[in-house]
This record gives sequence, C-alpha cells and structure tokens, in this order.
Amino acid sequence: MKNDVLCPICEEGLLKVQNETSSVEYKGESGEVPFTFCVCESCGIETVRPQDAKSNKRAFLEYKKSVDGLLSYSEVKRIRNKYGLKQADACRLFGGGPNAFTKYEHSDVAQSEAMDSLLRLIDKNEYAFWDLVEIKGLSGLAAHQIKKQTYSAPTGTLPEYEATDKVISIARGRKENTVSRKKIRVDNLESFDNWGIMQNG
Ligand SMILES: [Zn+2]
Repeated sequence: MKNDVLCPICEEGLLKVQNETSSVEYKGESGEVPFTFCVCESCGIETVRPQDAKSNKRAFLEYKKSVDGLLSYSEVKRIRNKYGLKQADACRLFGGGPNAFTKYEHSDVAQSEAMDSLLRLIDKNEYAFWDLVEIKGLSGLAAHQIKKQTYSAPTGTLPEYEATDKVISIARGRKENTVSRKKIRVDNLESFDNWGIMQNG
C-alpha cells in the first residue's frame, strides 16, 4: 500500500493508522474528539506522525470553539460561499488579516468573538452584508466576484420599496450589469425575491 510507513523505532514493522476518539476537557466541560495515531505492527509502539499531530490539533481546536460557542470551520466556509466570496475577498471585507479565512477554514486559528458575531449577522441579514460592502468601498468586488445573489424576502411588508416594478424593466432594457439595492423598487415581495443583484445576461 502506498501509505505504508516503516516504523522509525524498530525499522521492521509497518505503521498502522488508528482513528479513535480521545477524551478531552476544556473550561470544565469534557468531550470526545477524533484522535489519529499509528501503531507499529511489529514492536507495537504508538507514534503520532506530523500530519496526525496537525489533524489532532485541529480537531481539538474545533472542540474548544464549540465550547466557546463559535462557528465551526464549515459554518464559516458556508457563510463565505453564500456570498460567493473568495477567501482573500472575505479577508478584505471582514478583516482578520490577509490569510484569516484560510486559517479559519483549516481550523488552524479560531475566529475572534467579534468576527464570529459579524459572520452570524451577515448570515442572517443580507442587507447588512451589502451595506458592509458599500461601507468598505468594495462594490467593485461585489460587481465582479459576487454573482447570482438574491435577497431572501423579509417577512411582512417592505415599506422602503413602494413603487412599481417598472424601474426593474427599465434597468433590464438597458442591460445594466449591476443594479444597486437602492435602485430596486418593487411592488410586491415575490418580484423582489426573484430579483438578483447581478444580471447574468
Ligand atoms: Zn516498530
């Protein structure tokens, strides 16, 4: 097998990868996390390869984050993908450093509580996301990187948007590439919901 590794101690047996769970404790809470190690088939010694140490460390970090009430790495990724953002663009928009989202999504670093709160907010509220894009002066990013976004219709009425959907028809007729949220005026929730931020055609 291509993954076979000779035991570094006895240099006779092959190391066999074992995936188990390990009991851990953090902030007074105990839990189980995945734990990977190797056992030599000949001398029986247990070792942890560098890649095992890395994945074990990541598993423990995810456990600590769950105790701390932070989003998991996969939830961070889901929220980023929801807006079609590349990792580098997410860093520009949300901060945290140039490689922050790569680190979050590989479980190398836990996001701060402030970053976590921001991500939860824009996950729930797409208006907040687009307002942030505007505040940070990244509308170019929005036009070029973020595609096929639609607003989910808020419950209840939309008092801000009270005109007819003629404005949309005009915009479509002109084949504008992007239409800012403020230009979109609709008279019912259904057409509002179906209206994307970026025209694909
Ligand atoms: Zn051995």
